[in-house]
Amino acid sequence: MPSGEAILLLIVAFICIYFIALNVIWFAVWVFFKREWKRSMRERELNSLREEEDYRMKNPYSHFSDCAVHNEPAYPAGECDCGALPRKDS
Ligand SMILES: [Zn+2]
Repeated sequence: MPSGEAILLLIVAFICIYFIALNVIWFAVWVFFKREWKRSMRERELNSLREEEDYRMKNPYSHFSDCAVHNEPAYPAGECDCGALPRKDS
């Protein structure tokens, strides 16, 4: 039969181990979600870059606001009549 002191020590040790295990679990959860969040942010950034690149590939030139390509929807869009300067930012 263990003494009262030994039982108290056992309880204290159990509580210590319990809290250490709890911390380890929460740390693992935190690391996992941080990684997922970083990955999703990186993915979103890459997607926006890809969209921008797609837009530039489809629209390689910038037109003046009164260029015929901007006639829609009031009138049918026509051929470029502004000289279509190449985009300065691409
Ligand atoms: Zn034009």
